[in-house]
Amino acid sequence: MTNRIFNFSAGPAVLPGDVLREAQQNLLALPGVGMSILEISHRSKPFEDILAGCEADLRALAGIPDGYKVLFLQGGASLQFSMVPMNILTSAGSADYVVTGAWSQKAVKEAKRVGGVKIAASTEAENFTRVPRQDELTLDPGAAYVHYTTNNTIFGTEFHYRPETGSVPLVADTSSDMFSGPIDVSKYALIYAGAQKNLAPAGLTLVIIREDMLARTPKSLPTMLQYPVHVENGSMYNTPPVFAIYVMRLVLAWLLRQGGLAAIEKVNQRKADTLYAEIDRTEFYKGHAAADSRSRMNVTFRLPSEELEKKFAKEATAAGLDGLKGHRSVGGIRASIYNAFPAEGVDALVQFMREFEKKNG
Ligand code: PMP
Repeated sequence: MTNRIFNFSAGPAVLPGDVLREAQQNLLALPGVGMSILEISHRSKPFEDILAGCEADLRALAGIPDGYKVLFLQGGASLQFSMVPMNILTSAGSADYVVTGAWSQKAVKEAKRVGGVKIAASTEAENFTRVPRQDELTLDPGAAYVHYTTNNTIFGTEFHYRPETGSVPLVADTSSDMFSGPIDVSKYALIYAGAQKNLAPAGLTLVIIREDMLARTPKSLPTMLQYPVHVENGSMYNTPPVFAIYVMRLVLAWLLRQGGLAAIEKVNQRKADTLYAEIDRTEFYKGHAAADSRSRMNVTFRLPSEELEKKFAKEATAAGLDGLKGHRSVGGIRASIYNAFPAEGVDALVQFMREFEKKNG
């Protein structure tokens, strides 16, 4: 029996133990199929059933309305930085981007290659310690869309409100908090997420797109970059990432067994509250994010010196708490506690933090 340690990685990230066990058990032969998911054709009935089941569970979990298409793509969230503007930013117009961290900056960079970009707000001057308030957003009523990043994986901040954009379509990169709680899909024109944090292993990107957006795609785009092509072909224009989709199917079934998105949100809130309470208990640890922008998924904090931060990460790893070193652009410590991260792991980290402070504070 392999011992599993607590994995605080920002992504690829921890998956539910039940999911891994089921995938392992069925790896040699899918029940009733006699072949591995790694071997069967994506055009086979068993895989078609897996893909259809995935979409049905996604729709059930998030209440995705009719009038929205669900796509299973590749290229990561990073390809969506390009595909979004290529498809829905008509070259004559411009789009509004809310800049709250490194990933939104990358999204801006790609959109600028395609058309006009206006920065609706940026918190860069404050080292991305918070997300802007609605009243700080400068929105162009004629914009092609408004783009924002719901959770900033690197800085550990998260929007706790959904920007109000009137009749301008809202586009969200939800890579690091997708399905961490309920999401009202009807308020968005397009949602995308790299799956490797809360939904599946790496290699799969989820896109949810409102049908009216599909009419915007220029026919001159390369085929693989056109959303309508993937819609018309049911995400099977070419070979989809079959294994990642299979594991996502297991993760969604697991999520449903947990009671769905409202139930997992309560668990996530409790885990995050526990960790932030420990950060707030002492001056030794300092949270990076402003209190009202704190992420429930990526908890970032500093120690009194970089030496202590290095020591903390090293000793934590030795104690079975892995992946806590912060992103190189922020430094410090980052604890990623996605849906599948167990509450016992948060308790273990809090215990470790107390002991570390006692010895080094
Ligand atoms: N957006 C956010 C918010 C992310 O956290 C990441 C990856 N950490 C990306 C985009 C890029 O995703 P990918 O690696 O799937 O391209």
